[in-house]
Amino acid sequence: KNAEFRRLWSEAAVARTMPVRKRSSHKGTYGKGLVIGGSRNMTGAVIMTAKAALRSGTGLLTMAVPNDVYPVVATHIPEVMYHPCSSLNGCFAGEIDLITLDVDAIAAGPGMGRTMGAKSVIQKVLCQDVPVVLDADALYFWNDYVSIIRDRTEATILTPHSGEMARMLGVSIDDVERDRFGIAKQFAMGNGVYLVLKGPYTIVTTPDGKQYVNTSGNPALAKGGSGDVLTGIILAFIMQHDNIQEAICNAVFVHGKAADALVEKEHSPMDVLATDVIEAIPQTLFSLY
Ligand code: AMP
Ligand code: MG
Repeated sequence: KNAEFRRLWSEAAVARTMPVRKRSSHKGTYGKGLVIGGSRNMTGAVIMTAKAALRSGTGLLTMAVPNDVYPVVATHIPEVMYHPCSSLNGCFAGEIDLITLDVDAIAAGPGMGRTMGAKSVIQKVLCQDVPVVLDADALYFWNDYVSIIRDRTEATILTPHSGEMARMLGVSIDDVERDRFGIAKQFAMGNGVYLVLKGPYTIVTTPDGKQYVNTSGNPALAKGGSGDVLTGIILAFIMQHDNIQEAICNAVFVHGKAADALVEKEHSPMDVLATDVIEAIPQTLFSLY
């Protein structure tokens, strides 16, 4: 049995590994990202993911959302491009033209619903040769993605909270909570994925079983939308770092640190909104540079 590799991912590690923005750069240098999600009943999640990705340095961002959700989403973010997709009852119908989009990394799941159309979109996403982040509803049909994911050559990053992890494994949340490290390691190694097991002290596990524990964050994040924000930061960072593990660990740290900055002044842990966390990303990045 391999020796355990478990580390705290400290602020010093973050400062050492954050990317440097070069003078000679242009928007293409920092990646063309794609955020996929949204449905009629959940329009906000994907907006937060996209805003967080932009606040975290993405060079160019496209949002793929169901057709009839597009007008709502488009009023919120002037900085992105749109790829409206065919829609069925307010959700993805299943079509998405990933060939013409030509992106460097994809984050999918927030607010997309648990429909057959959503499943079909995720299966197409997983056939793309770029790093993919799956979150929220994109984790719902996990069993139908396993074989495609095991064949992927680019990184697959999954970001379940304990409830989602339990569901994916067919065990109880208590079972997950009892052995977060063990379960995460077995899952990441068994499927060849980067696993971000969220919660207080989020654990990032690499496909080869190394584990990094996050030290930032507080219960202000225990509110709808927090995870959607994290997904956007991860998308942005994997396009700007050379090392996927460092990108993910730094994203998780910045996300928690932004929430910490809010409760250090002006906010109680009760009143913080996920959109406040997005707006606290700038001061957090500022403090790291
Ligand atoms: P989600 O459940 O998908 O919205 O994700 C919640 C996000 O907030 C994850 O990044 C969690 O790590 C974070 N979070 C939730 N509750 C807490 C907590 N009590 N302390 C620290 N972080 C938390
Ligand atoms: Mg979530």
